[in-house]
Amino acid sequence: MNYLSTRGDTTPRKFCEILLEGLAPDGGLYLPEAYPQVSDATLGEWRKVYHEQGYAALAFEILSLYIDDIPAADLRALCAKTYTAEVFGTGEIVPLRHLEDGVWLEALSNGPTLAFKDMAMQLLGNLFEYELARRGEELNILGATSGDTGSAAEYAMRGKKGVRVFMTSPHERMSPFQQAQMFSLMDANIYNIAIKGVFDDCQDMVKAVSNDLEFKRKYKIGTVNSINWARLLAQVVYYFAGYIQATESNGQKISFAVPSGNFGNVCAGHVARMMGLPIDQLVVATNENDVLDEFFRTGVYRVRGSADTHETSSPSMDISKASNFERFVFDLLGRDGARVKALFADALAIDGKFDLSADPAFAQTAARYGFVSGKSTHANRLDTIRDTWARHEVMIDTHTADGLKVAMEHRSAGVPMVVLETALPIKFAQTIVEALGREPVRPAKFDGIEALPKRVQVMEADVATIQALIAQECGY
Ligand SMILES: *Cc1c(COP(=O)(O)O)cnc(C)c1O
Repeated sequence: MNYLSTRGDTTPRKFCEILLEGLAPDGGLYLPEAYPQVSDATLGEWRKVYHEQGYAALAFEILSLYIDDIPAADLRALCAKTYTAEVFGTGEIVPLRHLEDGVWLEALSNGPTLAFKDMAMQLLGNLFEYELARRGEELNILGATSGDTGSAAEYAMRGKKGVRVFMTSPHERMSPFQQAQMFSLMDANIYNIAIKGVFDDCQDMVKAVSNDLEFKRKYKIGTVNSINWARLLAQVVYYFAGYIQATESNGQKISFAVPSGNFGNVCAGHVARMMGLPIDQLVVATNENDVLDEFFRTGVYRVRGSADTHETSSPSMDISKASNFERFVFDLLGRDGARVKALFADALAIDGKFDLSADPAFAQTAARYGFVSGKSTHANRLDTIRDTWARHEVMIDTHTADGLKVAMEHRSAGVPMVVLETALPIKFAQTIVEALGREPVRPAKFDGIEALPKRVQVMEADVATIQALIAQECGY
């Protein structure tokens, strides 16, 4: 399997060549040259593999179709090491919970940081460690976070050989629970850096360091953001696992509803569907930051300015543009790299938007690719959390509530709807209290974490200071 860029660079690259990279050199995103097709017989085999051998074995089957530069035995071992009941809380790894007639929740948030990003990040940590050892190289991951991504990255990379994580976050702006999760890590390769500023200041520092090409090369600076192909690939697996659990035979179709921000999660659903998984609809649910809902309703993709980007009670979906969306547009436009480049590199840069409403391809988003969408507001979120608690005694988090709200608008008779649960309510306790008048349940392993010692350094938003820290810790 070779990979190419969505902006027309067709230089064939192998999985491990793109594993440690973000964007392709032409600014595009990596995708496989073609999606492997899963026959009815293979899907039947995988059904047995999941039921008899478990999630890790299923992950190996799917990943091995996309990764041919890691020996099979090693890849199998990496999957087995990643997807354990110990790390993800249950033997099923992603158990389905029945909510009501035809509606299910798929639990993706029982990993170490209680959000679905662990599903991919935990695998990424093991892949990075493996590949860096093979090359005899080191990597310094530099990131900016306002919550979920940073903690998922730290819990995936802690203690991994060859990797250091320098994670910036806005000083005193994360929730006490989020701060405790990250800052209580005592691993020597994890550096928490609280920046005196806001999230954008953190992100600007990361960009400035990455744009210093000499520094970047010397200190092997890398990222773990959601455009990384390996993260997306790891997420494809739980669409198959969800399908297998929700159905008894391959003749059945199901739909998935996905709380969406950067379009990484639902793009993995698109890949699964392109491989032949019998998915009827992919329901894209957004919050007040409705860039994606606007596109799927109107054909206009319009990125938002910072004044136009809302801070909401489902903060992990607060995006101004959807960084993985380009992957879907590439498929939608018949994999025409030149056109994708014209849209994403030119039109977006000049006008901040592009309009496909008059293009025949736009009608295909629903008809051929199964995409539908909807949006959910703070009031909807509270209603959905209350209703789900009142009727089912199930407590859901704010992001999952957005997914469930929009899912209910797109149900069709006889087609099971699986809503992806992307975080546990404890992470967003304030809104749960607002909705239900009570504190969310806290998993036992998080009892008292706010009181643990913290390992964090507070820093001015100054690029030279962070560069000095990285150089000092590398010792070269
Ligand atoms: C990151 C995140 C999302 C959004 O996922 P995308 O892949 O960016 O669309 C939704 N919910 C939670 C809890 C998240 O952490």
